[in-house]
Amino acid sequence: MSECIFCRIIEHKAPSHILYEDNRCIAFSDLNPQAPIHILVVPKKHISTLLDFEKGDEEEIGHLFIVANRLAEEKKIQDAGFRTVINCKSAGGQMVYHVHLHLLGGRQMTWPPG
Ligand code: 5GP
Ligand code: ZN
Repeated sequence: MSECIFCRIIEHKAPSHILYEDNRCIAFSDLNPQAPIHILVVPKKHISTLLDFEKGDEEEIGHLFIVANRLAEEKKIQDAGFRTVINCKSAGGQMVYHVHLHLLGGRQMTWPPG
């Protein structure tokens, strides 16, 4: 069995609230939401960090944002706006080493982030 929790969710071997899925990515609710809407958009390919994206992965990365946009519309946060975040490695606050795009919305975000 995979050591990676997001791979286990992708394989439907760990529970999650899946909001969207296609052959390239999956999107599910964050277990510990930091905003009223907090969704993780995750490529199905196990890529550890943002740094591990390579030339040729442009579509893979772009697809995450297209799906995030679609979910933002579904959740009706597109007019107010929202935030997308990819944390990279330790100083970036990355906890799960399977790259993922956070989609956060439903409240006013502040800047700078903590
Ligand atoms: P990171 O800090 O790596 O950018 O974000 C990891 C995110 O994954 C965190 O927001 C955390 O709450 C979420 N998370 C960690 N484990 C699980 C899990 O098993 N299920 C779900 N749905 N989210 C998780
Ligand atoms: Zn993984």
